[in-house]
Amino acid sequence: MFKDTLDFIKSLYPDKNCIGLHEPIFSGNERKYVMDAIDSTFVSTVGAYVNNFEKSFSAYTKAPYSIVTSNGTSAIHTTLWLLGIQPGDEVITQALTFAATANAIKHCFAQPIFVDSDPKNLGMSVESLQNFLETNCVVEGSKCINKKTRRTIRACIPMHVFGHPVKINEIIAVCDKYKIPVVEDAAESLGSLYKGQHTGLFGKLGVFSFNGNKIVTSGGGGMIVTNDADIAKRAKHITTTAKVPHKWDFYHDEVGFNYRMPNLNAALACAQLERVEEFVLNKRQTAQVYSEYFNKKGIQFLNEPEGARSNYWLNAIFLDNQEQRNKFLEEANANNVICRPVWRLMPELPMYKDCQATDLSHAQSIADRLVNIPSSVRIK
Ligand SMILES: *Cc1c(COP(=O)(O)O)cnc(C)c1O
Repeated sequence: MFKDTLDFIKSLYPDKNCIGLHEPIFSGNERKYVMDAIDSTFVSTVGAYVNNFEKSFSAYTKAPYSIVTSNGTSAIHTTLWLLGIQPGDEVITQALTFAATANAIKHCFAQPIFVDSDPKNLGMSVESLQNFLETNCVVEGSKCINKKTRRTIRACIPMHVFGHPVKINEIIAVCDKYKIPVVEDAAESLGSLYKGQHTGLFGKLGVFSFNGNKIVTSGGGGMIVTNDADIAKRAKHITTTAKVPHKWDFYHDEVGFNYRMPNLNAALACAQLERVEEFVLNKRQTAQVYSEYFNKKGIQFLNEPEGARSNYWLNAIFLDNQEQRNKFLEEANANNVICRPVWRLMPELPMYKDCQATDLSHAQSIADRLVNIPSSVRIK
């Protein structure tokens, strides 16, 4: 039924027997830098590549401060810790996200609240957020109180889905009114700009992931970015066991995490980051080719939102309904064209089923119909 489309996708990746959803390529300096890290004997969290990666990341994104972490989840956990999230606090995020966003909230023993998606960018809906806050919340002093639970809403985490920027300025404006700091989950959006500025730099803090399926990978790794010098200093301190620097003394002044990226991973990351702009431009070309094809086919393809330059991390199409989506997934995967549905909405998962949530009709409709199609960089 979808043979034409699958043949078209195969024609874009002619050398592959099985076309993955998003495969990394390591044809730059990856081997050289990783071997160099091994030869240096500095394979753990102290090493030149770790610091270099932070510097290069700041140079590329224009982040005033970049602090590496062991992965994207630990990066989100750290940002919430830095914002002083206490057990019993509440944190708003979107229902349509990867589980890590909500998990990091739970790691602080806080409760997520789930809001609906914007059908244009698939990220947090400004209207849904605003409506939730207007109906349920009140500002008392410097705190936003949920009238239903009497708990404090201590942060809001919008996520840039598949690299497509959300309306981050509008989300921050709404959150400012309610005294809620914003953490951007930019795990998927390295290379994505909104109104010319890199995603992740709008909120009080932003986080990135360098998992193997992301646009740039360190094997496993993450990054925290911020404009705030004090927060940056705290982020480095808390992710490095809160050890006070000294030549030999083991003095730790608070409970810290061992969340810093190892040098081996940072070596891989440095080599990958050298090519990020090449990757982004290549992925944008692929998206253009897909867009034209699906336009002709009468199948809805997700284009970048207005005002954004998206990295098109994962390309997405919409089928008419869940049945069609399932048929497409069956046929594609049976033909070695690896396609995936989007994540289940968070309240469908057992640990999040009792969380407060808004009407989620847009998110549900997206989840029912969306398919991610192969999106790897097409460079040798
Ligand atoms: C990948 C991802 C993360 C977490 O990253 P890890 O490095 O795998 O911990 C968090 N949020 C989103 C939206 C992601 O896509």
